Amino acid sequence: MQRIYNFSAGPAVLPRDVLVQAADELVNWQGCGMSVMEMSHRGKEYMGIQAQTEADLRELMAIPAHYKVLFLQGGASSQFAMVPMNLLRGRASADYLNTGEWSKKAIKEAKRFGNVNVVASSEDRNFSYAPGQDAWRLDPKAAYVHYTPNETIGGVEIFWTPETGNVPLVADMSSNILSRPIDVSRYGLIYAGAQKNIGPAGVTVVIVREDLIGQCMPAAPVMFDYKTHADNDSMYNTPPTYGIYIAGLVFRWLKAKGGLSAMERQNITKAGLLYDCLDSTGFYGSPVARENRSRMNVPFTLHDATLDEAFLKGAKERGLVQLKGHRSVGGMRASIYNAMPVEGVQALVDYMKEFEKTKG
Ligand SMILES: *Cc1c(COP(=O)(O)O)cnc(C)c1O
Repeated sequence: MQRIYNFSAGPAVLPRDVLVQAADELVNWQGCGMSVMEMSHRGKEYMGIQAQTEADLRELMAIPAHYKVLFLQGGASSQFAMVPMNLLRGRASADYLNTGEWSKKAIKEAKRFGNVNVVASSEDRNFSYAPGQDAWRLDPKAAYVHYTPNETIGGVEIFWTPETGNVPLVADMSSNILSRPIDVSRYGLIYAGAQKNIGPAGVTVVIVREDLIGQCMPAAPVMFDYKTHADNDSMYNTPPTYGIYIAGLVFRWLKAKGGLSAMERQNITKAGLLYDCLDSTGFYGSPVARENRSRMNVPFTLHDATLDEAFLKGAKERGLVQLKGHRSVGGMRASIYNAMPVEGVQALVDYMKEFEKTKG
């Protein structure tokens, strides 16, 4: 069957091999006579699937033993609340970097639970860059430092790891987790909604250092306390079983592809193809500062915005879909997560050159 190239920011493209395997196993998983969707989460089969999924994620990201891996629900948006509820630990305030739409949402939610100190902001230049660490005004007494290493809407990525001393570093990696190797030990907590670079919507991955668990605000609901999930292997209540299974297939696919270093090389190649195309002409433009150009989400504009509709229509005719920019920024955006093959990006670049030739 013919597949199109889907540049959606999320839910996003999944590896074809994963979908084929899931289809093959949909009705009867490995001869057990039922679908993963129908299994008890307390049964041996499903418990095995979830344990293997966690083990593969730990291997891929080299997650140290003193970190818990949690599979939760509620999306990254719930983490905007769970992080302050769990990590403020009686302290007066938390530090936040403001680099765009997702940072702003995290900040707004954290303010419900404590004081927020915005260490730096790129709002002055329409969130088109990320302030370097020399511009951050960190509070040594902060409960934690929160940042968004990849702003999915603005296409602004931070490729270095902030240095926060003894203050735990918290990252919303929803849209760039697994896109390259990172040193997990530099972080107190990492979270990510699954629907960009992990699997289907409905699963949220949290990787948290053990010493940060167990000091949740007393008034918090049980479901919002990391300890509840850490003590119960993410099975305090029914986990999103099918989503976790698909995430597990994605992790196996990543391992077979050579792991995160291989992914990083491929992501550099893919992003390079697209940015080279944008830079090669005045017909297209990139609003993002060079050093912060995201490898996952590439916003771009046509010099003549009246051509936007024609561009999108022609793209769709060639099987290149979901290229319309976020409603808050306009223009175009190509999301090119791990599962987008190089051929998909090449097809987009070929189309962009052709479109320029006919309309430029
Ligand atoms: C998509 C996204 C979110 C929101 O995720 P939900 O799972 O929809 O709550 C938060 N942060 C970033 C960086 C995102 O890309």
